[in-house]
Amino acid sequence: MGEHRRFETRAVHSGERRWGGRDGPKNSDFFPISTPIYASTTFSHPDIETTERILGGEQEGYSYARYDNPTVVAFEEALASLEAPPGTAWAFAFASGMAAMHAALAATELGPRATVLAAEQLYGSTATLLMQIFNPLGVEVRFVDAYDLGAVDKKVAELRPRAVVIETISNPLLRVADTSGLAGITRRSGATLVVDNTFGTPYLQRPLTLGADIVVHSATKYLSGHGDVTAGVVVAGPPYDGALDQIRKLVGGTLGTFEAWLAHRGLKTLPLRMARQCENARLISTRLASHPKVAKVYHPLLEDHPDHEVARRVLSDTGGVVSFELETGGREAAFEFLNALDLCVRAPSLGDIYTLAIHPATSSHRELSPSRRQRLGVKESLIRLSVGIEHPEDVSSDLEQALERL
Ligand code: PLP
Repeated sequence: MGEHRRFETRAVHSGERRWGGRDGPKNSDFFPISTPIYASTTFSHPDIETTERILGGEQEGYSYARYDNPTVVAFEEALASLEAPPGTAWAFAFASGMAAMHAALAATELGPRATVLAAEQLYGSTATLLMQIFNPLGVEVRFVDAYDLGAVDKKVAELRPRAVVIETISNPLLRVADTSGLAGITRRSGATLVVDNTFGTPYLQRPLTLGADIVVHSATKYLSGHGDVTAGVVVAGPPYDGALDQIRKLVGGTLGTFEAWLAHRGLKTLPLRMARQCENARLISTRLASHPKVAKVYHPLLEDHPDHEVARRVLSDTGGVVSFELETGGREAAFEFLNALDLCVRAPSLGDIYTLAIHPATSSHRELSPSRRQRLGVKESLIRLSVGIEHPEDVSSDLEQALERL
């Protein structure tokens, strides 16, 4: 689907009805309008010569589901059309966001004596993946405040890293990366910029168009959006695409066909959901900011947010996550508040149509020492809300009644 069609149109149509290509049921007089779930582990061809050409890569086609599957390819094409200009990058779907991140890092050819410079605000499992899987292979892992361009510039000049790993929007304080500025730094030094765009989605930012090299998603979150599928995707062009294809074939963390179908179905409404989630988050963050029982609200819309200006430059909207600290401090008050919620769902994860509420200090950041949590600003009184698509007044009333109980 061409670049001339707009984001919303590409979200709905890209990847579907690829007639005339390798999926076309050429002898049929009817076509499904949405790509079916191809529950087939292997694919046969009119003759063995065709099979041989497809396995040898001389002809496009499907041979074995760990390599390729039409349902998975439909989802990949749709996401690639949202993340990158046509023909510049390809999407590779994985069984989870972590499998996708592992493949993205491996595709940067990390090996003994290579250094990875990672944001100290990274999702905890990504930091642990670097420390527990890559570091024992001889990869040096260093951390930096990725939201301080000067600090990154200095570290890159000092360490000459093979890869720099950041997140578009950090969890849970929603720091916003200056992707263009960071890409300028990595380009000058020859490092690969890997951007986890899970919180951003291509609706808010398309990092490849700002100079990033590899984009990673936990498609479990906004891309699929309904809290019913675990999936991950990497989007990249040359020279990384060949390595990603090979890593996926060899390691085998391929996305299942049913999961790909669910993720693709969810992706079609990404622009509608994101627009509503951003709108709801704007209203909720503004209300919480003036609530007497709330000490501080973190959301890029608010003028006191440290990246308010960066967000205006690099994001098309301010996102659907809002974090806030309760006035009456401590874990006890946070738990009391969370238990008093009636509509908002107490659960980890984010990006779903449902509003989800969680206590970061005991969930996403529980593995960190209290001193590291403190350094990152993750207080015991902090609540994270992933705002859904409900009527905002209903979400707001639920938050109000839970705050009144404190
Ligand atoms: N990246 C970010 C920013 C995340 O928040 C998560 C999960 O919470 C992941 C990656 C990992 O994704 P998954 O749970 O799909 O493996």
